[in-house]
Amino acid sequence: MEKDIVMKENLFFAVEQTRKKEEFVRSYLQRHPEESGIVFCATRRIADTLWKNLSTEGFPAARYHEGMTEKRRLLEMETFAGDRSRVMITTGASGMETEKKNIRFVIHYNMPLSPEDYCREAGYAGRDNETAECIILFSRQDIAIDRMLLRNRRNDGRYTEEEWDSLRRADETRMQKMIAYCTEDHCFRAFLLDYFGENYEESCGNCSFCLSTATQDDWKKGCPFPEGERGKTGPKVRPADTLEAGQRELFEQLRILRREIASEKKIPPYIVFSDRTLADMCRKIPRTEAELLDVNGVGEYKLEHYGAQFLEILRDFDAA
Ligand SMILES: [Zn+2]
Repeated sequence: MEKDIVMKENLFFAVEQTRKKEEFVRSYLQRHPEESGIVFCATRRIADTLWKNLSTEGFPAARYHEGMTEKRRLLEMETFAGDRSRVMITTGASGMETEKKNIRFVIHYNMPLSPEDYCREAGYAGRDNETAECIILFSRQDIAIDRMLLRNRRNDGRYTEEEWDSLRRADETRMQKMIAYCTEDHCFRAFLLDYFGENYEESCGNCSFCLSTATQDDWKKGCPFPEGERGKTGPKVRPADTLEAGQRELFEQLRILRREIASEKKIPPYIVFSDRTLADMCRKIPRTEAELLDVNGVGEYKLEHYGAQFLEILRDFDAA
């Protein structure tokens, strides 16, 4: 079922690393003035805020979540189904269902809890078999939000303690898969198909990774850094491989921040900081600007532009 959705050739899969999510949605709606779609938010509070802000600005938006009365939900659904609202803002937990066929985009405002959830929700896009886009807006905070949602899950007595523990572990594993989906370099369709047990060797040519590969190769050709710092094409021992387990977790957090900054500034990640610099940060764990300057590859310019954001993570990690 989920696999069939991923296989649909009319769907374009993308992940956008950004913290400016509302701006993304607003600009997306402006660029696609005739199209209708769904925005899935992690919590009803996030959904309410987005709905309120878009409505205030004159975007015809409907809203559907578990905190609303059934009557209200039905009314909102009618405006969406009848094309009087062109965007439906909802939550994963709302249980919203729609038969609407001409949904041109499904945007996940936050990282979904699992690939299963993701595919089910993305599956609302393009049921008329016309082109449609499935986009996740990812930022580091999504991981904390999803952790909170999973923590809030309660055993209503249906499961034994043992069963419950194993369900919780499965939740965590699925969430880790979503983090990998959102943060690692791969063909997004191939990643999902692999998760659902389908062997898919090629690149799909219709996801944000596949479409950007040409550009990335061009960057590599003109890349000012030695071969060893270019990630995938580098030598067998990468800077991250030299770290201990705890340091690697920090490395991962720094890497996500680096991608967010790179994506916002539209530059390749290694222009922000190289892997070697991030690895050195993980070893030294600087807490002040002076200490950060001591890290291999950090100069005044980078300190001024990126220092504060990296120090925030480093201090948090040090405190934990
Ligand atoms: Zn692809």
